[in-house]
Order: sequence, then C-alpha cells, then structure tokens
Amino acid sequence: SVVGVEGAEGGNVKVVVRVRKFIKRELEKRSPCLVEMVPETQQTILHPPELTAEEVKNMRKQYETRDFTFDKSFWSHNEADAHYAEQQHVYESFGEEFLDHNFDGYHTCIFAYGQTGSGKSYTMMGTQDQPGLIPRTCQGLFERIEAEQNGSITYNVHVSYFEIYNEHVKDLLTPRTTPPTYLKIRESPSEGVYVQNLTDEQVKSYEDIERLMKTGDLNRTTASTKMNDTSSRSHAVFTLTLKQIQHDIATDSTIERLARMRLVDLAGSERANRTEATGQRLREGGNINQSLTTLGRVIAALADPKRQQAQSRPNSRQNQSKRRAEVVPYRDSVLTYLLKSSLGGNSKTAMVACISPTDYEETLSTLRYADQAK
Ligand code: ADP
Repeated sequence: SVVGVEGAEGGNVKVVVRVRKFIKRELEKRSPCLVEMVPETQQTILHPPELTAEEVKNMRKQYETRDFTFDKSFWSHNEADAHYAEQQHVYESFGEEFLDHNFDGYHTCIFAYGQTGSGKSYTMMGTQDQPGLIPRTCQGLFERIEAEQNGSITYNVHVSYFEIYNEHVKDLLTPRTTPPTYLKIRESPSEGVYVQNLTDEQVKSYEDIERLMKTGDLNRTTASTKMNDTSSRSHAVFTLTLKQIQHDIATDSTIERLARMRLVDLAGSERANRTEATGQRLREGGNINQSLTTLGRVIAALADPKRQQAQSRPNSRQNQSKRRAEVVPYRDSVLTYLLKSSLGGNSKTAMVACISPTDYEETLSTLRYADQAK
C-alpha cells in the first residue's frame, strides 16, 4: 500500500526573494543598486532610480520607494556584507527542510521566478564551484540514505528532467531530434497526470545524478544557442522521486511511501510587450504569461487556507459563489496541470523570487508577483 500524509495544515507555501550581484554590464555602466534588505525584518525595499530630466518629462508612471516583507530576503549582492547569503546559506534555509518533508512523505516544489538574468539558474543549478539548490538537494538526499543504510527501509530514487516550451513537453534526458519530439500528457486514476514516455532513470548515487544533470543542461543549452536562447523562454522541471519501502517483519508486509521533489527553473518573466513581440515570439510570450499567471494563482490559493476550506465545504450557501471564483485553476497551463499532484494538499511549495539590483520596473513586477503568492 502507498501512504501519504493527510491534511497538511497551513504554512504550505514559503516565498523568499534573492538579489544578485552586479553583472559586468551593470558594473561598466556604474548602475546604482536599487535594492535594500533588512536582515532583522526580512524586508526587501526597492528604491526608485535616479532619472534624467528628459526621463522625468516622459515618465508615464510614478517611481516610488516600495517595501515588501517575505519569509526570507536573501542578500546575495555584496560578499563583504555580514548578511550576505551564499549558495550554502540558501540551501540551509529551506532546501534542507524540504528534504525533511520528502522523507516524511510530502511532495515538494521549489520554483525560481524572475526576469532573464536575475539569477534563477544560478539559484537552482548554480555553477561548478558554487552549486545551487538542485545539486545540493541531490547530495543531501544520498547523504541521508547512506546514513540510514542499515535500517528496515529500502530507498529507491528516480530522476527525470524535462522542459515546457510553448506548452509542449520535451525530454531533456534524451538526445535532441529534428523536428523536436513532443511528449504527450496523460491522466490515469492510478498515476494521476503524467508525461508519457518520459525518461525516468533510477539512480544509485549522487554521481549518477550529476551525469544526468549534465546531459539535461547540455540539451537545454545546445537548443538555446541554435534557436536564439529558448532556455529563457521555457520552464525546466527537474524531478526527484523518492520511494521508501518499509518491511514489517512481524506482519511480513511492506509499506511504500512516495515523495516527489520538483525543482523548477521558470521561463523569464519579462513582459512580452517589452520586446515588441510579433508572430512566434508573441505566442511564446502569451504562453509564458499565461503559465506564470496561472502558477501565481495556484500558489496564492494554496497559501490561503480559507480558499481551500471554501472548496472542501461545498454545502454552505455562502461558500457556493466563493467556491466558483476560487477553484484552483490547475488546468489553465501545462505547467500547473503537470505539477498538480505536487502542488495539492499533501505538499510543500517554495518560490524564490530572483531580482536584479538595477531594474526598477522588472524588479517591482517580480516583487508584486511574489507578494500575491504569499
Ligand atoms: P537567469 O537564470 O535568471 O537568466 P542566471 O542565473 O543565468 O539568470 O544569472 C545571470 C548571471 O548572474 C550569471 O552570470 C550568474 O552566474 C550571475 N549570478 C546570478 N546570481 C548570482 C549570485 N547570487 N551571485 C553571483 N553571481 C550570480
């Protein structure tokens, strides 16, 4: 039999924000840092840019200081500061806790949201020297399994890695084909929603996973150089499936516990209208907006226990209209539809909103998105 944890109570959604260092272009332009973080309160403060007289004259919107509070505000801007958050720090703040949840039988999802170049893949995958949440989670997973090797539990780990581009699913663990091979999405009573024929490889060690991560990232970037950086316009979903099989000698039976961890590098959130998109680009932009908007609505619904209650008490008259308005809209995008079982009741979700230190408008839009997901 398969057991899960029933009725996950409140606190299922964590929203954190992370500001990155200056990149070369910003250093060359001597752009000022518009973001401030207060370690005592976890506030993130966004300051208006200094505008030229010409810019002020043409200004359509008001730029003002904005102030947000999140579960965590990670200051990864200046290494010299005492509250500087390095990769290890980000992992320890909630990656480790999420692994605990997985071993307890919860599904988890971690999303990196933000404009292109804001630090999403640095946060999720990282670099060789500075590994991010995905490699650290994989390493942590095997450390725990090895530490418990002699118990009565057998562990079984699988890895899949796919991307969603223009509402199509592509396997990142198989070689690219021309034309691209899109996988079908299926739903069955026993499996729930799943991707048909997706590679789901069993792994025995961290080294096994490292090899798969390399294959996947290579497949992602090869395609992106050919097609003018598709990677910033696709969602990459890395999935670890942990099965714990407990043998009960007394009754000679086994109990299986299944937990999925989804680690998602989302498509760039920069708005389609900015690039004066037409044709293919416009469609991409529309699909990205649609799936990011839907994801935001799904997470907001999960974060607010009242909305979930409204769904579980269909008989109350007052709740009827509320229920219609607030049904969790999983089906509105491929991303949320596929992740439905990882986002529902028996799960924990975190969103890392990645921000640039110099772009007022995009950063404000990201902070607003993160704020409504809380
Ligand atoms: P995205 O995935 O959002 O497009 P990247 O993760 O590629 O953005 O980040 C853009 C650049 O900034 C990369 O060169 C990356 O290495 C660097 N970077 C991002 N976040 C950090 C950070 N916290 N510390 C150091 N460098 C960072």
